[in-house]
Amino acid sequence: MDAHAPTLEKLVSLCKRRGFIFQSAEIYGGVTGLYDSGPLGTLMKENIRRLWKESLNHLEQEVVYIDGALIGPEALWKASGHISNFHDPMVDCMVCKHRYRADDISLDKPCPHCGNKQWTEVRDFNLMFTTQVGANTGQSTTAYLRPETAQVVFVNFKNVMSSSRVKIPFGIAQIGKAFRNEITPKQFLFRMREFEQMELEWFCKPSESNHFYAFWILQRMLFMRAIGITKERLRLHGHAPEELSHYSRGTSDIEYQYPFGWKELEGIAHRGDFDLTQHMQHSGKDLKVYDEETKESYTPHVIECSVGVDRLFLTLLCDAYYEDEIDGEIRTVLRLHPAVAPITVAILPLTKKQHDFAYPLYKKLKLADYSVEYDSSGSIGKRYRRQDEIGTPFCITVDFDSPADNTVTLRHRDSTKQERISLEDIPARLDALLKISFLEE
Ligand code: ATP
Repeated sequence: MDAHAPTLEKLVSLCKRRGFIFQSAEIYGGVTGLYDSGPLGTLMKENIRRLWKESLNHLEQEVVYIDGALIGPEALWKASGHISNFHDPMVDCMVCKHRYRADDISLDKPCPHCGNKQWTEVRDFNLMFTTQVGANTGQSTTAYLRPETAQVVFVNFKNVMSSSRVKIPFGIAQIGKAFRNEITPKQFLFRMREFEQMELEWFCKPSESNHFYAFWILQRMLFMRAIGITKERLRLHGHAPEELSHYSRGTSDIEYQYPFGWKELEGIAHRGDFDLTQHMQHSGKDLKVYDEETKESYTPHVIECSVGVDRLFLTLLCDAYYEDEIDGEIRTVLRLHPAVAPITVAILPLTKKQHDFAYPLYKKLKLADYSVEYDSSGSIGKRYRRQDEIGTPFCITVDFDSPADNTVTLRHRDSTKQERISLEDIPARLDALLKISFLEE
């Protein structure tokens, strides 16, 4: 048996049981669409962010990073088009009051919750969270929590250009929180109300924009493959003209085959000069650049690559989840790429007697910056199962012979094969495992 059989229920339960993800404020009943990362979730998300940055940094293309404010003034969101366009169609069941995204259900059919067929009219619902800035009554102004990180990049475009050594073409990247008051948050981390995005805005000459649109689609697909996502569960979906957002001249989604169907994992959009033009018009500031060759000013075009940390996290879990049979027992295993796995290696003394030898080894690897866990209690079989379930690629077992000959047993997660290695070989073995190649197809 070797089943890739994730269901959302199984993943939610594993995430809670092992400390990846918790419902936020669960002891007070929680809020739909809000989640907290536990110890393992935090480690794994750190790996995701680091790998995303590495995937940009290994290229010749120049990318700089910013870290912008989460709250933006009304003027910004007017210019970006979010106040007038960033809404989803909403409909309510008049009998049970359940609320739906109108494009999620069929209004010809009865309410999936109560079975009646009495719908309100479909209304537009703006997804942005509002807040008040300023403490004085009557003097505070309405502002919005950013629904995407991109706009903070556009409004800082000139600041970055004039303060850094960058020249067109170049990218500004940002990792940070975004907030959307989704009508029906669902499918666990797939659609949340507070989530994190990793976005790259690539600024280029208009004449080169189609070339870079194709270039970034390829790079982003290679990234998904390099971090271990199964090729057959990835596909590219190019938007038809009628599907395009208000800002887009072309959009391609990298889709993943989730347990609940093919859905967007990452969006790559050719935004043209929409955003810079909007911000020039609304702010009155000049955001054009001067071309030394043609001696003319122009508005750069933008290619955007946008992926959610949390959605990628969910994707990696879905993709890595297997149930297989080891020694007549069913085990759950996360076959995560070692560079993604929250723990790289677990140090397991066979009995408490090996503590004095095993613990210093744990500390040494930890100080060398490896993600290590020390687990000394329970049967060795149970400890292996736990590590399999959290995706730890290597277990090191310290036994009676270890102090005598400085060797330990190295157990491989996927094959469960074991080999005897000497202590001094451990770092090289771990480094080889953690290597990631972004260029391979
Ligand atoms: P959808 O059509 O699914 O609502 P979208 O096209 O509005 O998504 P984008 O604005 O393109 O999404 O967002 C870029 C990326 O940010 C998405 O590909 C996804 O990875 C992530 N993302 C967007 N909304 C959410 C959310 N509510 N929860 C988690 N991740 C999200």
